[in-house]
Amino acid sequence: MDCNRCDEEAVMHAAYSGAHLCADHFRESVEKRVRRRVRRDDLVPRDASPENPQTWVIGLSGGKDSVVLTKILHDTFAEDPRIELVGLTIHEGIEGYRDKSVDACVDLAADLGIRHELVSYADEFGIEMDDVVEDDPENMAACAYCGVFRRDILERYADDLEADLLLTGHNLDDEAQTALMNFLEGDVAQIAKHFDASLGPLSEREEQDDFVPRAKPLRDVPEKEVALYAHLEDLPAHITECPHASEAYRGEIQQLLYDLEENHPGTRHSILSGYEELAGIAAEEYNDDATSADLQACAECGSMTTREVCRKCSLLESLV
Ligand SMILES: [Zn+2]
Ligand SMILES: [Zn+2]
Repeated sequence: MDCNRCDEEAVMHAAYSGAHLCADHFRESVEKRVRRRVRRDDLVPRDASPENPQTWVIGLSGGKDSVVLTKILHDTFAEDPRIELVGLTIHEGIEGYRDKSVDACVDLAADLGIRHELVSYADEFGIEMDDVVEDDPENMAACAYCGVFRRDILERYADDLEADLLLTGHNLDDEAQTALMNFLEGDVAQIAKHFDASLGPLSEREEQDDFVPRAKPLRDVPEKEVALYAHLEDLPAHITECPHASEAYRGEIQQLLYDLEENHPGTRHSILSGYEELAGIAAEEYNDDATSADLQACAECGSMTTREVCRKCSLLESLV
């Protein structure tokens, strides 16, 4: 089958759009979607200038998603003095897995010539995820501990680096799963929070004084296309899944979405666009209750939390 836009052979077919594209036109279409998302989410503020440059910290895990996001943002803004990119990589202490993906991050940052910061759970918290999984004092999934620690590091370092934006490589499949999970859990406050934290256009979100705003400019691109892009660009991505991954509910939702997408192409896109619209309406409704009023400084570490001692500090307490 030929490409819809030229005479080259197509390397992919997207059932949701009907497009057949060759390697060049496929790459172009992925890049276009990321740039359009950057525009629609108003990620570059009007007052950004060479004198007032923006620091964008990218959570760079070395997996295909964050590697592709970093590459496309670099290509988009390499010549633009308004945007400075910093890759932030976290070593969780997972043997045989994270070492390889850290290598991928170091290689990518060197190739692109961007600043790169590497931090570890060992240095930050004195723990390794391999040991946490073994001990498991709270009897929960590995991802539950890891998520709390990762969020803490991302937020703290984004703050230290004076980031204007914290970007992560969530793709369309990730975001459609999260949307569906939040919806099925019936937690509208959580949906409103999702919008203000990372989903809505920057100009429409409620200002969050103590948090660097987040963005996910890869969320219009399906996971498979991210993988194909990484392959075609020969990017140094590490594709093995984390050996401790065990989010059972997310796995169920993922399978459900695969099946729906197979029979009804475009389902992920429509879930996410409908969810974003609803989340925006929910956020407007909930903003009046100013959730930030409930925040206080953690008695142990001083980070903002709704409890007396934050979740990270209480988990660390249970681990020693
Ligand atoms: Zn073509
Ligand atoms: Zn704390």
